[in-house]
Amino acid sequence: MEQITDYFGSLVFNDEVMRNRLPKDTYKTLKKTITEDKELDISVANIVAEAMKNWALENGATHFTHWFQPMTGITAEKHDSFISPIDGGKVVLEFSGKELIKGEPDASSFPSGGIRSTFEARGYTAWDPTSYAFIKDKCLCIPTAFCSYGGQALDKKTPLLRSMQALSKQAVRALHLFGNEDVISVKTTVGPEQEYFLVDKDLYEKRPDLVYTGRTLIGAKSPKGQELADHYFGVIKTRVKDFMEDLNKELWKLGILAKTEHNEVAPAQHELAPIFATTNVAADHNQLTMEIMQKVAKRHNMVCLLHEKPFAYVNGSGKHNNWSMSTNTGVNLLEPGDTPSENAQFLLFLAATIKAVDEYQDLLRISVASAGNDFRLGANEAPPAIISIFLGDELDAVLKGIAEDKVYKGKKQALKIGVDVLPPLPKDTTDRNRTSPFAFTGNKFEFRMLGSNESISCANIMLNTAVAKELDEFCNVLEGSKDFDKDLHELIKKTIIDHNKIIFNGNGYTDEWVSEAEKRGLLNLKSTPEALAHYIDKKNLDLLSKYEVFTEEETHARYEINLEKYYNVVHIEAQTLVDMIEHGVIPASVKYEASLLKEYKLKKEAGIESAYECEAINTISTLVDKVYASLKELKKDITETPEFKDSLERGMYYRKTVLAKMTEVREYADALEENVSKEAWPYPSYGDLLFGVK
Ligand code: ADP
Ligand code: MG
Repeated sequence: MEQITDYFGSLVFNDEVMRNRLPKDTYKTLKKTITEDKELDISVANIVAEAMKNWALENGATHFTHWFQPMTGITAEKHDSFISPIDGGKVVLEFSGKELIKGEPDASSFPSGGIRSTFEARGYTAWDPTSYAFIKDKCLCIPTAFCSYGGQALDKKTPLLRSMQALSKQAVRALHLFGNEDVISVKTTVGPEQEYFLVDKDLYEKRPDLVYTGRTLIGAKSPKGQELADHYFGVIKTRVKDFMEDLNKELWKLGILAKTEHNEVAPAQHELAPIFATTNVAADHNQLTMEIMQKVAKRHNMVCLLHEKPFAYVNGSGKHNNWSMSTNTGVNLLEPGDTPSENAQFLLFLAATIKAVDEYQDLLRISVASAGNDFRLGANEAPPAIISIFLGDELDAVLKGIAEDKVYKGKKQALKIGVDVLPPLPKDTTDRNRTSPFAFTGNKFEFRMLGSNESISCANIMLNTAVAKELDEFCNVLEGSKDFDKDLHELIKKTIIDHNKIIFNGNGYTDEWVSEAEKRGLLNLKSTPEALAHYIDKKNLDLLSKYEVFTEEETHARYEINLEKYYNVVHIEAQTLVDMIEHGVIPASVKYEASLLKEYKLKKEAGIESAYECEAINTISTLVDKVYASLKELKKDITETPEFKDSLERGMYYRKTVLAKMTEVREYADALEENVSKEAWPYPSYGDLLFGVK
């Protein structure tokens, strides 16, 4: 039987393949480029390209592409074949170092937020050698960053790599303070847990809302939802199991460490978690995972829904971003360690993270903001829209002890950082708080606010940059200190006191927390436009430009792109809803009403009581009038929009006016569904969709 170990990574130009196929010195140079972020010489690139081409051809590839992640949120690829003509009408297969390192796709149709006008449409893609090339659909895919000719980032990878570099630089400085001179780089690591829904493809195709928008815009509640919690970790249905098996195999071939799979809370909802990797690799792998999930689902006559809220009344889907930092010597910097020095170092990195999350709550909130995710955050199923940190009782008590110079459980004196050993912290804390947006889980933080559909890049860009900034400030204080342990203690103590307000160990789903957070002065940015408004606050522009992650121009561009995406998404949803009501809901309801009326008349002629028909006709008739009236208003809202002074105002209009009207239309439509026979209703029901996969 075929073993996983035989095919794992078989479609990846990974370290083993490189070692086997490259001349020794080329391999060494390439490795150095990868581990030390060095530039690659063209002569070396030529040798690598040749080896890559031969390997790809042997594995069935005919084309190559620079695979990149423009700001559309999905990946982009333009395939070129390896052929090159020679005399006699023949071809040879070629792939040069230049083609490996740099590509020049026509960039004019990708969002740029005004950075690049179409007359200077050229952009270029540049190889990211830290993420392995791979073969997908007979095409050699080379992970690349995508920039304009002026060097401005037009994608999600470029700023992610920049933020990792910024963090590495500051973290190395901090580690040298503790005598770790052997550390030359620090990489952030991420393990993203991915949630998704599976629905039957035939049913899916009968729902224009799912087809056009990825979520249901109407749909009455099904008799059963997630009340019994009988789906969570439940036995996996055969069809789903077959899908998962197939999916795992595809992912493993691509070297993706798919590890855990289980049923989630909502019916038809599932989760896949990989083993963590360096952040840019994790980001690439997550994009691939989402793409392959959708592809494999189709093979099983299902559709994989990645939308954050495909169905009302049951949970939506998120993505948990498990995050840490790791040195080139293999040390996890969020691992508390055993000795006073290790503990002190851990506390410094912990303090930097706490301060970063507090000072840049807005950027973290922005990094997860999307029209889809607005239905989750703050809706009692995902963390609230308020950012706070959960530390767990043990660590919380340790920090309180430091802040208040108090003794900690059974100790004789208050803990001195750098001198005493930390009390043991439970590894896998059972008191794990599932309601916290940002939770410490023993040796990493779990940022839980991400939407299922979004790239993980943005969240990590903000997190890495903010932590880099705090480490920079800490190093400025500590470098040249005369009494390191004392100054370190004071710095950590001050940080804990100053940023205590961001720490919250209680239940984040309660109303009390919302008012408590307000008292503490924490931000509660309820929707995407409200959050995005802060993107261009001076402090955020300053942070991102100081650490060379985004120039001010680039930040402005992202702000524009995100707003534009937001109101376009809502606009498309509104148009889809109009279409479904006009061409589905109203005609079906009226037709059904007519059949009842016929029945009513017949009964009346025969002298039979007809209380049911009479009442049903009245109910349907009233609801049809109501839905029609609301529909007309909605149509007006989206066709006769007011003049907007900027994108933010337009975004707010779609949030406040259009979405509110859509909710009203939906209420009447759902009431009609409840009153019209199943046979007459034009769309598969929630029950069909949620329980349709056997
Ligand atoms: P759960 O949160 O579901 O209980 P785990 O805690 O085992 O699951 O891990 C969740 C995710 O965190 C996995 O993808 C795992 O690989 C990842 N993870 C573990 N250690 C680290 C780390 N140091 N950095 C980043 N991610 C990590
Ligand atoms: Mg988790």
